[in-house]
Amino acid sequence: MNNQMVSDTLSQLKALLGPKGYHDDAHDLSPWLVDWRGIYRGAAKALLSPANVSEVSAIIAIAREAGLPIVPQGGNTGMVGGATPLPSGDSVLLSLRRMNTIRTVDAPSGIAVAEAGVILSNLHDAAQAKGMRFPLSLGAKGSATIGGLVSTNAGGTQVLRFGTMRKLVLGLEAVLPDGSIYDGLAALKKDNRGYDLTQLLVGAEGTLGVVTAASLKLVPAIGDRAVGWVGVESPQAALRLLRWLEARSGQAIESFEVVPRDTLDLVLEHVPGSRAPLQSPTAWNVLVEHVSAGGSRAALEDLLGSALEESMALDAVVSANEAQAEAFWRLRDSISEAERAAGPAVQHDISVPVDAMPDFMENAVARVEAAFPGMKASAFGHLGDGNVHFHVRAPEGVDGDSWRSGPGKEASHLVYDLVVEAKGSISAEHGIGQMKRQELLRLSDPARIAALRAIKSALDPTGIMNPGKLVPLASDATAQ
Ligand code: FAD
Repeated sequence: MNNQMVSDTLSQLKALLGPKGYHDDAHDLSPWLVDWRGIYRGAAKALLSPANVSEVSAIIAIAREAGLPIVPQGGNTGMVGGATPLPSGDSVLLSLRRMNTIRTVDAPSGIAVAEAGVILSNLHDAAQAKGMRFPLSLGAKGSATIGGLVSTNAGGTQVLRFGTMRKLVLGLEAVLPDGSIYDGLAALKKDNRGYDLTQLLVGAEGTLGVVTAASLKLVPAIGDRAVGWVGVESPQAALRLLRWLEARSGQAIESFEVVPRDTLDLVLEHVPGSRAPLQSPTAWNVLVEHVSAGGSRAALEDLLGSALEESMALDAVVSANEAQAEAFWRLRDSISEAERAAGPAVQHDISVPVDAMPDFMENAVARVEAAFPGMKASAFGHLGDGNVHFHVRAPEGVDGDSWRSGPGKEASHLVYDLVVEAKGSISAEHGIGQMKRQELLRLSDPARIAALRAIKSALDPTGIMNPGKLVPLASDATAQ
């Protein structure tokens, strides 16, 4: 596109969206051009904020005609640079945040319809007001949006019982790369009309279209819950405890998060107001949430009391009230924030088969620390899903950017090699974005890459939707 074409296209978009929906002032754009972790910085010609699906459709039609790349963005809490435009600055940001209406919350059918820009915690509140809940939660719930959660197939802390976003999306409304509107919002229990476009858009990271609304599964609100903080000696002991608890309480165990001692120490050091739940530190910690119609506290106390008697745990405390339950969760949810304050790190959100995870956690930490003296590795998170966040922190005093692109990158290679060796996935929750595109190419079988590219070029032949994200580029093969 020459300069005149760009300027004509931007004028068309400005006229379409008006002053509320079109911004090109550097000051307005700047917060949205850097990702949550501050790793990726991009540039964009304008920030477009449509108010409804028709405006999204008109934007995409104009962009398609002009060959103008579009980068969809929700809450900008993604972890892989997927919502950050490339530094070339030839794209426009498409923010869905103005489309934030919860269209319906239907308790009897257990379905909510929410627009893409609805913030997760607002959906939680709306469902709660009707005696229901949306059973997906994560540390960024105050900013992450439904469109972003759908587009990254987000997980979080309740996957153990309810699955990832993929399981909770019953239907979608979206604008496809040619500007057409896909109306798949009806929550059909059975639908065999061939390829499942809704599920194709889940986890597509904005590369196949723009999600504008979703029909989402609700479950009855929590009647009662209690949160326990348990000390165990190893990840193997943590998994044994999970199996033991599940055998005795079935689906009442909704969350089971493991946190090693050094990671908890980081939170205690960097997050104001945080306190260690147990009197003496243990090598590993487990946060366990028990949910029931009533009597969760007594039930969890009984369970953990028996676990201690049977030497399944070293120490345990159960939340005395909701404030303490929240405080335990805050420790878990603040890990990313604490790590960000602690200094540069490379993060890996990985999965291996559940039973293999405890050994993987110990072996991989030892291998990385032995290979890269001075770096500190730790793994924490969703053990019951076979998914942990495997973080490698830089030696003290290094420059973050050069460490990340040098030794940090080499450490990441090793982590991903170990994951592939264990038959796991290099992205369990966060997606591929800009961060893992080259690793996806390096470590995937050719059939997977060919299929990804074929789907992308069939639906988005001019490549305007979120270029440089998820789908490996030809140049990635030489850039490794
Ligand atoms: P963005 O960051 O704005 O976008 C993410 C991707 O989706 C980008 O590729 C973007 O282009 C695309 N996109 C956004 N909106 C749309 C749309 N409407 N249509 C098409 N494409 C779109 N993630 C987990 O899975 N589990 C966790 O436990 C978890 N914990 C987190 C804790 C913290 C403190 C933080 C900061 C993040 C955490 N995340 C977690 C990551 C993040 O919250 C999720 O990836 C979330 O789904 C991103 O939502 P968002 O609205 O911020 O999307």
